[in-house]
Amino acid sequence: MVINEYVKCNSCGTLINLRAQASGSPSPFSIDCPVCSSNISGIMDEQEEQTDKYFGLIDITNAKVVNPPETSDSFYSFELSTEFLTRKVIKKDNTSFELTPFIRNAFTPLTTTNAIQNAYIFYNYIADHKWERLMNLIELNINGNQKYIIDPLNNILKESNSALKKVNSPLEITVALHQILLTDSGLAFSFGVSELGDYIKHAKILVDRKKEIKNYVINNLATITIQLKDFNQGFIKLISEFASLYQQFIPVIAFRSYNNIDELDLDKLGITTLNYEQINSFYSHSYEFILKNLDIIFVLNNLFSRGDASKYPHGKSLEQFNKISAYNKISEMISSEPFSRPLKSLKNKIRNAITHYDVSLDRNKQLITYQDRKKSQQLYYVELANLCLENVSLSFYLNELFYTLEKFQSNINNVPFNPELKGIFTDKA
Ligand SMILES: [Zn+2]
Repeated sequence: MVINEYVKCNSCGTLINLRAQASGSPSPFSIDCPVCSSNISGIMDEQEEQTDKYFGLIDITNAKVVNPPETSDSFYSFELSTEFLTRKVIKKDNTSFELTPFIRNAFTPLTTTNAIQNAYIFYNYIADHKWERLMNLIELNINGNQKYIIDPLNNILKESNSALKKVNSPLEITVALHQILLTDSGLAFSFGVSELGDYIKHAKILVDRKKEIKNYVINNLATITIQLKDFNQGFIKLISEFASLYQQFIPVIAFRSYNNIDELDLDKLGITTLNYEQINSFYSHSYEFILKNLDIIFVLNNLFSRGDASKYPHGKSLEQFNKISAYNKISEMISSEPFSRPLKSLKNKIRNAITHYDVSLDRNKQLITYQDRKKSQQLYYVELANLCLENVSLSFYLNELFYTLEKFQSNINNVPFNPELKGIFTDKA
C-alpha cells in the first residue's frame, strides 16, 4: 500500500508529496525543497491511534502538513521505501497515474525470488534481540569470560542451525558462536551466500596444508595471539556498526542478491531513506579495518606460493614490505595467488575525502561528490551502499581466515574439542 502525505515548505511554500510504500519499519528521509533548497527531514512510520494502526508522517522539520491538493495543482513527489529502490523526485499532479514501488517490482526477481525476505532475516534477528545477545556472548568470549557463556550458549544451540549442539571447552564456544553468526543471524545474505561458501573453501585450503600452517602458528604464537584478539575486537565493532545501520542497506542487499548494481539506471533510481553521513562514516571504518588486517592475506600467499611466510611478492623482504603504506600494499598483491581477493571497493580518495570532511551533496539526485586534493569522484547513494557491502564481504573473508588460525592456535594450546565432530582436530596432532 502507498501512503501519500502532502507538506508545504516553510520557506517558499512549495507543495511536496511524500509517497511511501508502507511497511513494518520506519522510513526516515532527508530531502531538499526543489525550489529553495531548504532541507526538509522527517520520518514516516506505523503509528497507533486508539486501536487503529496506520502508516503516516510522525515527524517533520522545515515543512508543515497540508491537505491533499486540488486535482490540477502540481507538486514535487518524493518516493520512500525501506524495501525497494525508489524513483527520484519528479514534478506531477493528481491526474498523473503512477505504479507503486511494490507493483513496479511485482513478478521481477525481487519478489519472485526470496530477495526481500532473505534481506529481512537479519533485520528480524536484530528486532528479536537475538543479535544483542549474540554480541554479548562473542564479547565475553573475546575477553576470556567463558564461564558466563556456557549455559546461555547451550540454550541458544538447542534452536540453532549450528552443527554443535552442546559446548564445554573454549574452542567449542568459539566454533559455536562462529556458526551461529554465519548460519542463524542471516548476515550472510547481506553480502552473499555464495561468497561465504567461497570464503569457507579458502579456509579449508589452510586446513589441507595443516603441517605448514601449524608450524607457522607455532613459530609466531605470541604475535598471532595478539593479532587474533585485535582482529576479533575490530570485527565485532565493525559488524555492530553495520547492524545499527542495516535497515538503510535493505533495498541494495535485496537487489544485489540477484543482479548487478551496474545494471541500474542510478540517475532515476535510488534510496531516499539513506543517511549518507552515517554510511560514509561506516565506509571509512570498514576501509580502515580491512587495510589494518590485510597482511594476513600476504602471509598466507607467501606460505603457499613461496613456502616462506616472510617472502613477499616481487622479491620483497618483510622489512621492505613494511615500508610500503597500507593502501599501496594493495598493488603488491598478485591476483593469481590463492588467498588474493579483488579489492576494488577500497577507494583511497573517497576515504581521504571523508576523513577531511571534503564531501558535498546533491540530496535530491542522491549524488555525493568526494574531493581529495584536486581530484574529485562522485557516487550515488546506491553505489556508496554497494561499496560498503563489498567491504562487509571482505571483512567476513578476513574473519574466516583468522577464525581458522584461531582453531590452529587452540589446538597448539591443547584446548580440547569434541572428537565426534568432523573437522581439523579430530586426530591427535
Ligand atoms: Zn522551499
